[in-house]
Amino acid sequence: MKLNIGVVGVGAIGQDHIRRFVQVLQNCQVVAMSDISKENLDKVNKSLNLNAKIYSDGHELIRSKEVNAVVITSWDPTHEEYALAAINEGKYVFCEKPLAVTAEGCKKIIDAEMKQGKRLLQVGFMRPFDTGYRALKQVITEGQIGRPLLLHAAHRNVTNTYTDESIAITNTLIHELDVHRWLLDDDYVSAQVVFPNKSSLAPGELKDPQLVIFKTAKGTIINVEVFANCQYGYDIQCEVVGEKGIAKLPDPSQIVMRKEAKFYIDILVDWKDRFIAAYDVELQAFIDNVISGRFTQGASAWDAYAAAVAADTCIKAQKSGAIEPIAMPKMPDFYKK
Ligand code: NAP
Repeated sequence: MKLNIGVVGVGAIGQDHIRRFVQVLQNCQVVAMSDISKENLDKVNKSLNLNAKIYSDGHELIRSKEVNAVVITSWDPTHEEYALAAINEGKYVFCEKPLAVTAEGCKKIIDAEMKQGKRLLQVGFMRPFDTGYRALKQVITEGQIGRPLLLHAAHRNVTNTYTDESIAITNTLIHELDVHRWLLDDDYVSAQVVFPNKSSLAPGELKDPQLVIFKTAKGTIINVEVFANCQYGYDIQCEVVGEKGIAKLPDPSQIVMRKEAKFYIDILVDWKDRFIAAYDVELQAFIDNVISGRFTQGASAWDAYAAAVAADTCIKAQKSGAIEPIAMPKMPDFYKK
């Protein structure tokens, strides 16, 4: 079986995923594309020598007979309506993060998927497919550092255009919310957000950076620095402090330079490069999930919902300054792997 893919949104990641489908991955072809920019669509067709049908309306693409899997890579607030529409058509869906910008939106998608009676959707949380995060999880799961006590993480982007710190939660922190839950096999019970001095280099009124502190059900404390305009690179850090030792996410492998009285390695600046291999494995997993008829790999709508419940609470905590409780609902059997 070959998956006939329709892509909604052909900006930065949409184009990168299309390149993967065309040049890297097995058992798939891109048959349709939609975006609000016709110019972008023509450019993608031409540059990748594709002959995908162009739709000006994402909903028309979703309804079209030639598409059996919809890949949603449009801007965050549009994901919910496209994912819901695709599921209601009974189509398979790969939706970039966030699945929806609120937990309420994610819950609507869960209800629609459960109504269809089978798993149809995977969410674009790629970090559990990264070899570094997988090695870190193995160390923790094998008990090599003992019980995790603390987790220190940082998510730093060179720049961002958003000017509202709640978007730093739903767009940026959301990766951390998913991966730490997976890494520690745990759930969040409270969140607090504290703001240091605002960087003068952050756009508009954006309070950047921010520090988000969680407590988990098993008692681990997690702190995540979210720095959306750190200027120097795309830098993802994660260190787990256990009872017997400390385990740290490896930095991407780079050449070590000795030059002009300096000793250094380059730091990546583009997120596409940092997780290039993880995106490949993640999307092949989606294709394999669909073809096998069993969603055994990758983030589910429930995982996205759990992250969104925590994200909603972080936004509340940004405003209140208090430690806010997180009420995580129980996962239905439908989503148990
Ligand atoms: P982008 O470059 O701005 O691309 C988004 C594309 O969607 C643009 O071409 C945009 O057109 C188009 N679009 C906007 N509204 C639309 C609509 N209603 N219907 C169809 N197309 C529409 O953004 P990006 O960086 O590719 O990000 C896209 C999504 O992927 C975001 O949700 C982001 O959170 C996610 N993402 C995930 C990762 C990851 O690591 N998993 C990394 C990057 C991005 P205009 O430019 O004309 O508005």
